[in-house]
Amino acid sequence: MSQKLTNIKIRLDENLDEIVERHVPNYSSYRILRKSIDARKRHELREVYSLEVFEQNEQASNPDFSLEKAKTQPPQKPIIIGSGPAGLFAALRFVERGVPCVLLERGKECAQRMLKINRYWRYGELDPDNNVCYGEGGAGLYSDGKLITRIKSEFIPYVLDRLIQFGAPEEIRYLSNPHVGSDRIRRVIPKLREFLKEKGCEIHFETKVEKILAKNNKIIGCESKDGRSFHSEDIILATGHSANDMFYHLEDIGVFMEQKPFAVGLRIEHPQTKINKIQYRDFHDHPKLGSANYKLTWNSPDKSTGVYSFCMCPGGLILSSGTETNGVVSNGMSNYRRNSPFANAAIVVSVDPGKNSSDKFSGLKWRENLEQKAFQKVQKNSGSKELPAQRVTDFLRQKVGQVDKGSCPSGASAVDFNQLLPKEICENLKEALSSFDKKMPGFVDNDVQLFGVESRTSCPVRITRDKESLESLSHSGLYPTGEGAGYAGGITSAAVDGIKVAEKIIEKYL
Ligand SMILES: Cc1cc2nc3c(=O)[nH]c(=O)nc-3n(C[C@H](O)[C@H](O)[C@H](O)COP(=O)(O)OP(=O)(O)OC[C@H]3O[C@@H](n4cnc5c(N)ncnc54)[C@H](O)[C@@H]3O)c2cc1C
Repeated sequence: MSQKLTNIKIRLDENLDEIVERHVPNYSSYRILRKSIDARKRHELREVYSLEVFEQNEQASNPDFSLEKAKTQPPQKPIIIGSGPAGLFAALRFVERGVPCVLLERGKECAQRMLKINRYWRYGELDPDNNVCYGEGGAGLYSDGKLITRIKSEFIPYVLDRLIQFGAPEEIRYLSNPHVGSDRIRRVIPKLREFLKEKGCEIHFETKVEKILAKNNKIIGCESKDGRSFHSEDIILATGHSANDMFYHLEDIGVFMEQKPFAVGLRIEHPQTKINKIQYRDFHDHPKLGSANYKLTWNSPDKSTGVYSFCMCPGGLILSSGTETNGVVSNGMSNYRRNSPFANAAIVVSVDPGKNSSDKFSGLKWRENLEQKAFQKVQKNSGSKELPAQRVTDFLRQKVGQVDKGSCPSGASAVDFNQLLPKEICENLKEALSSFDKKMPGFVDNDVQLFGVESRTSCPVRITRDKESLESLSHSGLYPTGEGAGYAGGITSAAVDGIKVAEKIIEKYL
């Protein structure tokens, strides 16, 4: 019988095999179930493991995620709009359950999409269909590929297993902070696409859906920008949190939506060595430890506002990741090795600008306005492709000073964020920064820079769905899915949501 060993703490110079031998003499093999780093004590940094250890004549067997074929087919192939993690995993679930489907994506295949992204960073030429948020793979494709999620779902191990099958590193199964890296995610997606095509998913790239077609509030299909019609009684709408045009169209046809709170702020960039020193102290340059990360939160004394770090990218790059020609947005990513000399993270404040408004798009418009103001500041400095930036110490002093490009491929343009972000947001950010500096001394320093604006951490709108059927509250057959619908906040949760919705459609026809 295999044995579970939990909370095994080892020093960096210790050998795990020897430790296991001490616990289970003559073991034959072991499987790592969980691995994390405990860096709380200055002189005693430890690796922490949970293991399943096998005795002689026993072997670790891989978990079985094979799926049963659906017993009944939908009358028409379900249509999925958007090939981000939600759309791709909905399609994967369908084909693995033997249900052919159609996937419509406004952008190009990922290799061609990359060329367009590079032109944006280099020359400021934004392609509205192929950018850091749009194109094959969705926002997830260009992202850091951190798979950590706060949701609990039986589908998470399946998501990780399939990512590994298509080329993600095996270690994502057990690391407490699983990470694929932009470079590797970009290799996973084409393999997933070929698998989908082979198993019965019809994929149409460069097909921007402009109209959802409904009769008496029942979905009958959709129409693309170039006038092609696609017919189905089931549409999974997985267009992400940036698809403002889709939100406005849904409003025109009477789809029920609500506004919701979201978060905005700035992205902070430190030299990675500084973060390593703060977090790993005596062990900051130990070869076994990669680039260190952090997670920080602050609450206003009356608990009405929260400020927190989000999407922390150790050894990463800061990206200009807007989708509109007249606005700028910051975000972050890192490659598998996390080996850039910089660490970045969003520092965001929870906001609810539409709280007292009857216009459900007031949050969306507020976000658009902020991104446009940020772009105008860059233009005022004679820039076009740069991200607005400011030293953190200058931000605290309300002064425009010199800025560096840092890791940002588009460059940086000096602004005073106090003039750009609402006063209340700046005050909360400043309080939070000084609290973070107490928790991590050196967090606020002259070599630390802010970039902006970090406005797309989550969606200001929810396309509300029925809790049981997962269909839109107003339109049967319409399945709002993933981050754009307000039901996910990252790669893993979006993928899980796609699977949940695909399963719901299969179940409907049983
Ligand atoms: C730079 C960056 C880094 C990130 N890093 C991480 C990270 O490390 N970890 C993490 O968990 N999350 C990260 N995220 C967030 C994560 O990528 C999203 O949460 C996730 O991709 C949401 O998945 P989704 O499928 O719901 O939507 P999206 O990924 O946004 O996909 C939507 C898709 O729909 C397509 N589309 C939009 N409109 C239409 C239309 N009208 N017709 C046809 N197609 C359309 C788009 O082209 C796109 O492919 C990052 C995001 C960015 C931008």
